[in-house]
Amino acid sequence: MIKTNRFLVFFIFIYFIILANSFTICYAGEPIDKALKTVVIDPGHGGRDIGAKGPQGSLEKDVCLELAQHIFSYLKSEYNVILTRSADYAVEIRDRAAIANHYKADAFISLHTGGSFQHSASRIVIYTCKPGSGQTAPADPNSPRVMWNQLHSRSAMLSRGFAELMKKAISDIGGAPPKIRKAPLRVLQGASMPSILIETGHLTHLDTENTLASQDRLRAYARAIANGLESFLAIDTGANFSSAKGIGAKK
Ligand SMILES: [Zn+2]
Repeated sequence: MIKTNRFLVFFIFIYFIILANSFTICYAGEPIDKALKTVVIDPGHGGRDIGAKGPQGSLEKDVCLELAQHIFSYLKSEYNVILTRSADYAVEIRDRAAIANHYKADAFISLHTGGSFQHSASRIVIYTCKPGSGQTAPADPNSPRVMWNQLHSRSAMLSRGFAELMKKAISDIGGAPPKIRKAPLRVLQGASMPSILIETGHLTHLDTENTLASQDRLRAYARAIANGLESFLAIDTGANFSSAKGIGAKK
């Protein structure tokens, strides 16, 4: 009987350790400094979800994490920077935007590197979220869904401006300028703040795999993405929304 109780206590102990770790993993990062703006960077895939695989064996989940860690190192002194994962483990798609919402992030970026979308081999593509269709709003203007739709349409406009600024920052490092596209991306759909997904080429192409294997090139991409984020965060979107609309205009 005593032996059984010991086992029970042991298993309960292990259960709480696992529970505590899963919470830490989901919401890993430095404590939030309320005086600073907050960005959430999402390295795509993780754990058994490897993403795309290069001809020489590079994995999308590893490249995305490395890129995210470089961006983190460039921004951490001036912003709260939260990674949705800081090592190789799985994070549910819906939890990625939920982490950004939890922290009330000012911007959310999901990083990918090929495999999921049809596009040219080497060009970087910046995606904004194309909202799902067929949703009819209820009549009550104070209903949560109407308020969510308003928040979402405001974020969609700012996301377009965010994508334009990111395109400029990435173009500054040379190579073909990134394309901006819209897609119904689940990872962005739940985010209540300006959000983009950046796909840094197609890892399944040998040229892209070699480019991303170069630490110099990966750091250059990270620096450019950090610059794009800083350009966007410098705009006071909350205090002056009408002037923020201008950043979405086509250049
Ligand atoms: Zn991906």
